[in-house]
Order: sequence, then C-alpha cells, then structure tokens
Amino acid sequence: MNFHVLTLFPEMILQGMNTSIIGRAIANGYLSLEAVNIRDYAFNKHQKVDDYPYGGGAGMLMQAEPVYLAWEAVARRIGRRPRVVYLTPQGSVFNQSMAREMAKEEDLVFLCGHYEGIDERVLEEIVTDYVSIGDYVLTGGELPAMVMMDSVARMVPGVLSNHESGETESFAGNLLEYPQYSRPEEWHGKKVPEVLLSGHHANIEKWRREQSILRTAKRRPDLLKKAELTNKEWNEIRQWKKQQKTDADQE
Ligand code: SAM
Repeated sequence: MNFHVLTLFPEMILQGMNTSIIGRAIANGYLSLEAVNIRDYAFNKHQKVDDYPYGGGAGMLMQAEPVYLAWEAVARRIGRRPRVVYLTPQGSVFNQSMAREMAKEEDLVFLCGHYEGIDERVLEEIVTDYVSIGDYVLTGGELPAMVMMDSVARMVPGVLSNHESGETESFAGNLLEYPQYSRPEEWHGKKVPEVLLSGHHANIEKWRREQSILRTAKRRPDLLKKAELTNKEWNEIRQWKKQQKTDADQE
C-alpha cells in the first residue's frame, strides 16, 4: 500500500506516521508514505496557496491550481488517476468497513484542506471520496488523514504481526471487543474472571462472545442491529434489558 498525502504541512504527516507499528511497517516495506507539499506547486512570487472566497465570508480558501498540480505530479508518477480521499467534515463518516475496503487499493491519495477548505472546482476534478472522521470541525485535514492511514494500514497484510491481529477487534462482526486482563491476577482487589484462568478454550470463547454482545448492547446499541446474532443471543439481550429496567425502577 502506498500512501500519498497532499498537504501544506508535510512535516506533520511524516513525524506523525513514522513511529511505532506504522513506522515499522514503512521501514519493512509493507507501506510507503510520501507527503507532497502543495506549496511546492504554487508558482507565484511568494508561493501563496490561498485567497479570499468570491462572494465574501470569513477566512481564506486554498486555490485550485497548486492542489491540481500536486495531484497531477502524483498521478504522473504512479501512471494513472489514483483514488483520492478529500478529508472534509462534509464527507461520509469513516468506519472500519471503509478502512477494510480501502486497504485493497495499491495507492491512496489523501488531500488535506486548511483554512476554510479548497476551491470546489479542483475537488470536482480530482476527488473520488469525501470522508469525514466525525461531526466536528478541525483546523486541517492532516490529523484526519493520519487517523485514516493508521486504520487502513492495520488492514494491510503484514503490517500487524500475528499477535497484533486485527481480526477479533472491535467492529469485527459489528460487535465491540470483550474486556481484557493481564498480570497480576488481582489488582486493587479486582480479580481476573475465573474462566480466563481455566485454560478451557471453548468456555473462554463463549465468555468472550457474551461479553462482546453485552458491551455492545450497553455502549453502542446502534451497532447491534447490524450484528449477526443467534435467537438465543437476542433473547439474552432482551433479558438483560428487562433486568436493567427492573434495576432502574427499584432505584
Ligand atoms: N469550511 C469547512 C466546512 O465548513 O465544511 C471546514 C474547513 S476546516 C476549518 C479545514 C479543513 O480541515 C477541511 O478542509 C478539512 O480538510 C479538514 N477537516 C476539518 N474537520 C474535519 C473532519 N471532521 N473530518 C475530516 N476533515 C476535516
């Protein structure tokens, strides 16, 4: 997987991405990362990349031409029109299945806006996906691009080692992950659940599945609608909800 980031702040991308698991994957050749400075494609006296929006209004807008030329340089290098993600609060909200799907691409270009955003005309010409990382506004697209790259990279074969496998993590099957514990067996008077010490693999799996479902029902009930649950599991959720209601009524 090759990441190409079009940005006014390349150092932010390079510093943010070259550590830990992602840094190791880059060093080992599972990923490549280039940060293309859009300002290098502003061929005016002061390498200016922004201007006032027509019609007035607050703030400045990134101009079309430097963004287009930076994109064109990448497209020429890789020999085709690449998939281009524009990070914007106006996009579809990013999630794990998008990460999984994007991880199949050979090249992904991330376009980071700044100020009030980017001239619409260049977006129309080069952007294939409009993606937001949540319903709030940030000062630039660099953090969202890093969030997306981190998540997409984890789905690229070889990036995670076996013991870091992403298969059983939260959102797999639309369930949150079960609670986990490490040594010591007792901490602040809290004991690790007995079943996890039993060595009984089937019981451990059963407990983990129940905990995943319960945790999802408690924290992200919206996800449950898309999860594949058995009738027995739906019944257990109903029982749990009933119990919750009884407990609340008694308080
Ligand atoms: N004026 C724009 C609007 O109202 O939609 C917001 C511009 S924002 C201040 C500057 C840049 O930050 C955007 O162009 C985008 O690249 C990035 N950005 C801000 N919030 C974001 C979010 N939630 N998800 C993805 N990118 C975001």
